[in-house]
Amino acid sequence: MKTKIIILLSIIAFVIAMPFIFNKSVTISDPHRLDVDGNFILYEWVEARDGQGPDWDYNLTPVQVSDRVWCFFGAMEMPTKENAGNMSNSCYIKGDDSWIAWDSGPSYVFAKQAYEAMSKIAKLPVSTVIVSHEHDDHWLGNNYYKEVHGAEIMGPESINVNYHKGDQTRMVKALYQNAIRKTELVPVDKSFKETVNFKISGIDFEYVNVGYAHSEDDWFLYLPKDKVVLVADVVMNGRVTSNRDGIIIGQLEALKAIKARDWNHLVPGHGFITDKTAADEAVRYFTLIKDEVLEGIEEGVRPDDITKVVTLDEFRGKDLYYLLSSGNVYRAYEELEMY
Ligand SMILES: [Zn+2]
Repeated sequence: MKTKIIILLSIIAFVIAMPFIFNKSVTISDPHRLDVDGNFILYEWVEARDGQGPDWDYNLTPVQVSDRVWCFFGAMEMPTKENAGNMSNSCYIKGDDSWIAWDSGPSYVFAKQAYEAMSKIAKLPVSTVIVSHEHDDHWLGNNYYKEVHGAEIMGPESINVNYHKGDQTRMVKALYQNAIRKTELVPVDKSFKETVNFKISGIDFEYVNVGYAHSEDDWFLYLPKDKVVLVADVVMNGRVTSNRDGIIIGQLEALKAIKARDWNHLVPGHGFITDKTAADEAVRYFTLIKDEVLEGIEEGVRPDDITKVVTLDEFRGKDLYYLLSSGNVYRAYEELEMY
């Protein structure tokens, strides 16, 4: 009798565990989409949660960086429910008769509120959104600008290749419904193969391609007349970067391309320093990681031990150091082993 009960209980336990067992056996066919704490594209579908009540209030205040450029600065954190994805920087550039947006933030609601804040400075439509790279904290506001302003969206082709309508990125999964509501993944309208110069609403731009650096395809925006450079995630300051999708050598090349321009203000993808020293920390971090990991490889340090040897102690006080730095070192080892 006792044995029968135990067998019965085991069967019930197995049946209950089934969905979890099957979840564990899901094979990831696109590993480059993996995120440090999950995926950018999440394979388990999440039902829309009940989203009653008013929109999430991002409480946005634009900061003027130069005559024509204002930016919104996000928290130095990973995306969470509490920050509603407001953890990256995005900007507005004031043209003669329209705004140009540089990155659009983590959601439709964010973009809508950013525009409301900017309208108080000048009531102009947004003609163009220019996107830096494919990470979802930088462009999920695009559909607001598309739907409401009919804006043209310029950005890397990788967005159209890797993301499709209905995909659930980490923002879609992580944010409260009143922050992510109305957000749709929309394609980029115009992509370029290489660095281009153009004029929009009286402003000269150089949209610079640095290729595979922080992500599969990174771009930065240079305003030569304003001496401003908007560089997104190839530069972060005050926090440790996430190099999960990037490469050290590409990062260092990107930093060289930034240095080659004449600018007084640089706006990083994450971080608050925008003066002439804004890129110094990134240069130091990537130079150090490259030199020390290469030295470790030369000395025969095994991959499993590299994070114990290369600890980058001078960055210990920076935000996200404990969460991200050892991952960056480990990844640098994989990359630099072939170097
Ligand atoms: Zn990024």
